[in-house]
Amino acid sequence: MKRFIRDVIGWLILLAAVLTIYHFLSSPQETPDGEAYAYTSDGKVPTGLYPAVEDKTNELIQRAENRGITMFITDDFRSSADQDELYAQGRTSGGSIVTNARGGESYHNYGLAVDFALKNSQGEAIWDMNYDGNGNGKADWMEVVDLAKELGFEWGGDWPGFKDYPHLQMDFGLTISQLKEGYMPK
Ligand SMILES: [Zn+2]
Repeated sequence: MKRFIRDVIGWLILLAAVLTIYHFLSSPQETPDGEAYAYTSDGKVPTGLYPAVEDKTNELIQRAENRGITMFITDDFRSSADQDELYAQGRTSGGSIVTNARGGESYHNYGLAVDFALKNSQGEAIWDMNYDGNGNGKADWMEVVDLAKELGFEWGGDWPGFKDYPHLQMDFGLTISQLKEGYMPK
């Protein structure tokens, strides 16, 4: 029995050591690629699109236009309150479910995501993923996705489970829980 207790204590000490090491390794000081990021110590929550994401979005629109594809952004920054309202859609309010993220749980809430749609030749907004307006045999939607990935965006259509086809985001190696803590890319 004494031996058993000694073993248990030994394992607990080992577990504590592992957890301590894990805590230091996982403390959000640097992104996985080594790029340091800033802590928004003033407690300010983002109120708009993060500048680097805005630049890449504008570049994406331009590159698509160069290929004869007109795309536009339907949604960019979303406050946590807006996100909660969207989450309610199809649950406690009308319409169909469009998101699984509550306020603070979407990259939109940190200005790190945009949603896009296409415009057809009549200038109407479309979400048709097979539309080939520039007639090059490739779906315009997927051409935009490929261009976006080249620019460093992650596509919601690649997610396992709930697929968000209009959604593009840049996480800079930051998880939602790190963003919730107040970390933002530098
Ligand atoms: Zn989105």
